[in-house]
Amino acid sequence: MTNDLRRISWLVLVCGLGCGQTGGSATAPTGSTTEGEATTTTTTTGGTTVTPTGSSTTAEPTTGEPDPCAASPQALADCIDPAAYAEDLQFIADVRTPGTPHWKAVQDLCADRLSELGYQVVLMDYGTGVNVVGRRLGKATPEQIVVVAAHYDHIADCRGADDNASGVAATLEIARLLAKTEFDRTVHVACWDEEEDGLIGSEAYVAAAKAAGDDIVVDFNFDMIAFTSAAENSQTVPVGFELVFPEAYAELEANGFRGDFVAVMSSAKANAHAAAYAAAADRIGLRRALIELPGGQETSDLFADLRRSDHAPFWDAGYPAVFLTDTSEFRYANYHCMAGPDEVANLDLEFAAAVTRATVEASAVALGM
Ligand SMILES: [Zn+2]
Repeated sequence: MTNDLRRISWLVLVCGLGCGQTGGSATAPTGSTTEGEATTTTTTTGGTTVTPTGSSTTAEPTTGEPDPCAASPQALADCIDPAAYAEDLQFIADVRTPGTPHWKAVQDLCADRLSELGYQVVLMDYGTGVNVVGRRLGKATPEQIVVVAAHYDHIADCRGADDNASGVAATLEIARLLAKTEFDRTVHVACWDEEEDGLIGSEAYVAAAKAAGDDIVVDFNFDMIAFTSAAENSQTVPVGFELVFPEAYAELEANGFRGDFVAVMSSAKANAHAAAYAAAADRIGLRRALIELPGGQETSDLFADLRRSDHAPFWDAGYPAVFLTDTSEFRYANYHCMAGPDEVANLDLEFAAAVTRATVEASAVALGM
């Protein structure tokens, strides 16, 4: 989560908008080169260098036996491997400022894992950083794209376990599950770079997508999904939140302002996907708060606090996007190591696995399953 605090007071301005409107991975994450990897060519288009790696073969060998996980979006979600999630999280959660060895190791983890899973992997070198994007083409409407992503960079001198090792591990586990079957639509699984420097990696991807005329159905973005607190009044909200989102605020109040839910923030265009997420969360008993921005307001600085991650460039480009988060410093004092280390020991891995599981279901639905 970026620390871009352009905090124009909601309280003063919001009423102008109309108040009251409404695991199982077979290999350890060593970052080593795998047999499936075959970096060969580099192409340059529009100032963006892309290096395709890996093969385009499907991940699951044909055995004649259908994978029971692939029976439905719910079955796919229920095949989540919390141990695999925890292992990836543990590996990623170390200092990985852009350019450092661990930043590169996590970049390699994304590329190698996606390649092993059968994704076509592109290292998108946009000049100052490198996004890793894995693609699996849809079989009926491949021009329609569902994105699942998280940023892998972090600030200096901080392990960034919640921010955003928690999101990258979720992205990799979803990649594993989505690789078990084919979908009508194309899936892009991405590890963004330089989020902490101002959403630079995701902006580069969106600019390229826009230039190519890509039809992005929805982007599910994870940023900080693993901190919870069951204590009363452990959850705070941005100034003026209750005026714009009275229903969500009433739910938080009824819950004693406990920080034990995932916030599901969507632009109006993504509300159907947020609703699918909420249904999945309800099915598995994951507490969630739906925060749907008023139509057309997702680009407004009034909502600066809801725009502090990689979904914002999608919103700015008019693409639907859903942001999944534990709400950062509105719940977690160790955000950016401000009050102490941001490390795995602080985190609620059962909660993070549940957030991931619900996203498997919602993304499979979005992919046409
Ligand atoms: Zn951050």
